[in-house]
Amino acid sequence: MMDTHKSDAYEALVQFLYRAPIGLVQTGLDGTVDMLNPMSSNLLMPLARDGSLDNLFTVLQDVAPQLRAMTEAFDQPSGIVCDGLRVALGSAAVEGGPQVLALSVLKLDGTRLMATVTDATADMRREQSRLARRLERQARTDALTRMPNREAMLEQLQQMLDRPAAAGAGFALLFLNCDRFRQINDALGQETGDALLVQIGERIRATLRPPSDRIDPHAAGGQMAARVGADEFAVVLDGLRARADAERVATRLLDALARPHALAGQHVTCKLSMGLVWSGDAGAGAGEMLRDASIAMVEAKRVGGARWVAFETAMREKAARRADIESELRLALLEDQLFVVYQPVVGLRADGATDIAAGVEALVRWQHPVRGVVPPFEFIPVAEESGLIGPLGDFVLRRACSDFAAWQRALGEEAPRLLAVNLSRAQLAEPGFAQIVRDVLAQNGMRPEQLQLEVTESLAAQDQHVQQRLHELKAIGVTLALDDFGTGYSSLSSLHLLPVDTVKIDRSFVAQADTSHHHRVLIEATVKVAQSLGMNTVAEGIETEAQAAAVRAQACAKGQGYLFSRPLASPDLLVWLGGHRDDPAAGTRAPGRAPH
Ligand code: C2E
Ligand code: CA
Ligand code: CA
Repeated sequence: MMDTHKSDAYEALVQFLYRAPIGLVQTGLDGTVDMLNPMSSNLLMPLARDGSLDNLFTVLQDVAPQLRAMTEAFDQPSGIVCDGLRVALGSAAVEGGPQVLALSVLKLDGTRLMATVTDATADMRREQSRLARRLERQARTDALTRMPNREAMLEQLQQMLDRPAAAGAGFALLFLNCDRFRQINDALGQETGDALLVQIGERIRATLRPPSDRIDPHAAGGQMAARVGADEFAVVLDGLRARADAERVATRLLDALARPHALAGQHVTCKLSMGLVWSGDAGAGAGEMLRDASIAMVEAKRVGGARWVAFETAMREKAARRADIESELRLALLEDQLFVVYQPVVGLRADGATDIAAGVEALVRWQHPVRGVVPPFEFIPVAEESGLIGPLGDFVLRRACSDFAAWQRALGEEAPRLLAVNLSRAQLAEPGFAQIVRDVLAQNGMRPEQLQLEVTESLAAQDQHVQQRLHELKAIGVTLALDDFGTGYSSLSSLHLLPVDTVKIDRSFVAQADTSHHHRVLIEATVKVAQSLGMNTVAEGIETEAQAAAVRAQACAKGQGYLFSRPLASPDLLVWLGGHRDDPAAGTRAPGRAPH
């Protein structure tokens, strides 16, 4: 009886091993198979080259050649030789990937090994898809700020555009761009620049209550903040009742972002400009909506920055026109369509005489192949926005200096003594600009004090980086002039803070110098303050004898305007100078040449 029981139990054990869903193999230390269950022969058979499963190491020779050596090297009496070793059967090219076995080898004692073989294909696939999901997530996350990136944001936006519009509900896209990130990056280094971007991202998220990275496209509501470009962020606001809701968030965001950031032991302020698109105004595509938002952002920058501007469809056309000008201007620079004209700046002597060779101001023109001569106000702003102002300003500076040097050679003592060149914000932002000026002067044999660089009042007064650049230029020895004085930010009381030598009184004051007492007083005050600070004054836009007399009476040192001459091409300037050489009251006669 005992024996029957025993044999029943034995039979049960055999059945158990027989049916086990895991391959079991017992071998000698050299891999010779003693026993194996059906599962293991199923799994291993595809590997057996000659259909024999006599030796485990031989069977696995191709896929796990290291196994034999590992076993030999295992010097303990018993223990795990290898655990869960993955081996792939066949090529990875088969559909869904190859079958994968997991192999463990246990040393039972001095003579036997126990190996388990399992099919790990499903595990492997699960791991792979987990990895793929992680990669996918990574591909949709900005590495620096850990915010969703442009792709993720566009996808989200597209889902929202695609869903049926709900009555009385909408969404908005805000597009933010730092106002002068490049300068900050240049001045403080890229690491600090990166840290600033991270802080901006955090501040955006903190300001959006509750912060969230995901919007459920089916349940309206929620918001997403993403980093969509180097110094560009976007915010999608869903579930809004009205445009005003979006505008409120826009204002709140900008207020929060205007506060200084503590970075590398200092306080850094980086204001942002924002474009806002309301879902009702959006085109069909997410990309289009983002572009519209960036058009509105550029508009916000144009009107001074650090603010939001809501997109209007008319802006699209305007942007297209600007893009046309930009591409044409690019060509113009390559094809020499730009040229420089010179407007005489005359000395207004107290005795009523006019010094015609006091100087000239260089003014750029564009000889457009179809439109004729284009005035600077139509293309300078475009050049500033597109980065073309760098090469454009460079061209004007070089051309003007070489013309100036040619006049010195041709006329000697009677040539204009000072050359004024206008600068734009972008040129002053260029860290190497002072060096460029130095080089151009040297190339043309000019003394620094023969060059006057003109910056507008609003530009000089605002920006500490610009101020630094102005001091660098001053250190070279060039003259600095404050252009359009009276129209900008600074008042007479802060004039002494600016590193300038000359103040150019704006045309709008000069135009009323003879008719308005108020304007006359302002001119007089400007001249007095400037004089007391050792600065020179120039009255701009003098068109009549009466205006000339009025500014002369205020002891303004120099004048410029159509009364004396319109801007002239270089050869015409030489003629003008020749024609007025012996004429003490030069300004009383209009020059006969065609103006530009
Ligand atoms: P601005 O520097 O104030 O230059 C003086 C402007 O006043 C010139 O216009 C000149 O033609 C004009 N003007 C001179 N006298 C009179 C007058 O008696 N009456 C009137 N109504 N206007 C007069 P323009 O050449 O069209 O230049 C306009 C502005 O464009 C300049 O203002 C300057 O800010 C900018 N600009 C011109 N050339 C350059 C350049 O090469 N680089 C940069 N960055 N800006 C430039
Ligand atoms: Ca000027
Ligand atoms: Ca001016």
